[in-house]
This record gives sequence, structure tokens and C-alpha cells, in this order.
Amino acid sequence: MERAKEANRNEFGRKKRKSDNGEAMKMRNEKRKEKEDKNISGNLRFYVSSENDKVEIFDMIDTAKLLLSERVSLVSNAMILREVFQFYLSNNGGAPDQQNEGETESFKPYLRSPRDNCMEDICLISESSLKNLVAGISDHGLHCKEIVEIDSFDTFGHVQKLTLKCKDMHTIKIDTSSRLPGGKFLVNLRVLHGIYSSGLRYAQYERFAKYAGIGIIPESAFHEVQDMFCDVTDDAVKESVSDALDDEVGTTVLECDNVDDYKGITIVSDARHGWRKNSRFSDIISLGYRTNKVVGYAVVSHGDDPCSQRHELHGVKKTV
Ligand SMILES: [Zn+2]
Repeated sequence: MERAKEANRNEFGRKKRKSDNGEAMKMRNEKRKEKEDKNISGNLRFYVSSENDKVEIFDMIDTAKLLLSERVSLVSNAMILREVFQFYLSNNGGAPDQQNEGETESFKPYLRSPRDNCMEDICLISESSLKNLVAGISDHGLHCKEIVEIDSFDTFGHVQKLTLKCKDMHTIKIDTSSRLPGGKFLVNLRVLHGIYSSGLRYAQYERFAKYAGIGIIPESAFHEVQDMFCDVTDDAVKESVSDALDDEVGTTVLECDNVDDYKGITIVSDARHGWRKNSRFSDIISLGYRTNKVVGYAVVSHGDDPCSQRHELHGVKKTV
């Protein structure tokens, strides 16, 4: 088995010269030894069960060296050990801080979270705002050499309004979210969209946001946006149900041998209670038997019928 080192030497190694023998070579070797003596050597011993295993490991070292340089001999064992371990450690969270490239006193490419800082506040940031933040700091750096630091931040739901300042009192004001027409923060509205779509109630969301430390949207804003959201979703539901009903009727008619045989559609119903059994509200959904699309819905409350077991029947009647 020819080692990568030998193949590489055959390809790139220099040709033998006269001075490679005799007195000249002896002197060179002594000079090299003198130089080497100044270096501190370290031994790394390993044990394997066969010669092949040993060659395999050496070959891996040679191959890694070839990735760093054209010639194996230009890369020392110390260099390759450092490279390999640094690569492994930085990919597994074990790189010592001082080995991070580009690190300064105020900037750390790999930021550790100490145990007592695990509950630090978190904010959400939109991609465009992150780009804007980087651009704001970069632009400042074009005309001022002072470092900008966060002077203050105000929390608005999940958004932070940041004020950055440098020693020369230049101020950069940046929000962690872009805004929609009307001034509302995109980040907060997107979170609300997620909450409404998931069915979380405000109390549940509040607990989630509190323990996640991501800021909380106040209850008044939660309900205000919910009203707007419901207006839009109501229209979307009506449109969807109307389309589904057309589909169901069309499919049913097509399955009849004669148009006169059409006697109406068949539905299956399903009821979902709000969050507990015997709850105050139930959602009653009617599905088209053939298309399985929602062709009707109704909300039945405790006021319509005090017995929640009858809510499904009540709801279906309401839908029809
Ligand atoms: Zn400045």
C-alpha cells in the first residue's frame, strides 16, 4: 500500500543532486539538527492492531496535509494536528474562545451563554430588520471609528426598539421589525397570526411568551387584531364553503345517471368542543360526503342548547 506521502513525493519531490551525499549533506543535517533542537517536541503514541491500520491513519494525515498544501512535506505534524482539532472542536462547540477567528474584546464569533444568563430576554427580529441593523452599523463605521453600543431598548411585544450610540454621541435608532402600513410591527402581527391559527387562548399564549422570555403582546392588542383577523377569515370561510358546496353538488350530479335523479348532497358532520368536554361553545363542521371538503359550519353555544351533547345535531340543523 503506497502512502499518499510517497505518491506526492514522487510527483512533486525534487530530483537528487550531487550535494545530497557526502560532506555537504552531513553539514546540512547537522545544521538542521541544531535548528530542530530549539523546537520543543511532543510525542503522541497510538496503538492499533495491524500494520494496515497504522498506515491507514498515516495516510489520513497525509491526505489532510494535501488539502492544506500542494506537498505533504510542507505541512508539519503539529500544523495538521492543530488544524484537524480546531476544525473538530469548532464544529462541536468545544473551540477555546481565543482560537476564534476575528475575535475582539467586544465581538465573539462563538458566544457562550453562561449558566446565570440562560434566562436573558429574547426578541424576534425580521430578516429585513437584521439587514438594516448591519447596514446601520456599517454606515456609521464609514465616518466614525468609535464602537457603537446599545444605549437603550424598549420592548413592544416581541419587538425591541433599539438605540445605539458611540462615544462621539452618534445615535442609530433601529427596530427589530419592519412595519406595515398603519405602523403595526410585522413581527408582532405574524406572531398573532400564528396564535390565532393554532387556537391558543390569550392566557395560554401569555404563559408561553412569559416563560420563553420573548416579550408579550398586551391583551388589548391581542383582541383588537383578532377582530380584524376574524373579519378577513370570515369572508375567506364563506368563499371556501361556497366553492366546496359547488364542488360537492357538481360531483354528486355527475355521479347520477340522470339529472332528475339528483336529490341533494350527503354530508357527514363532526363536532369539536372549544377546549374541554361540556364546554360553552362547540364548532360543528359539515363535510361533503364525496369531496370531503367543508361545506358548512356553525358555532353552537351553551345559550342555544344547555346540553353540549346535543350541540352537533343543533349545529347541523343550523347549517342546513
Ligand atoms: Zn460615531
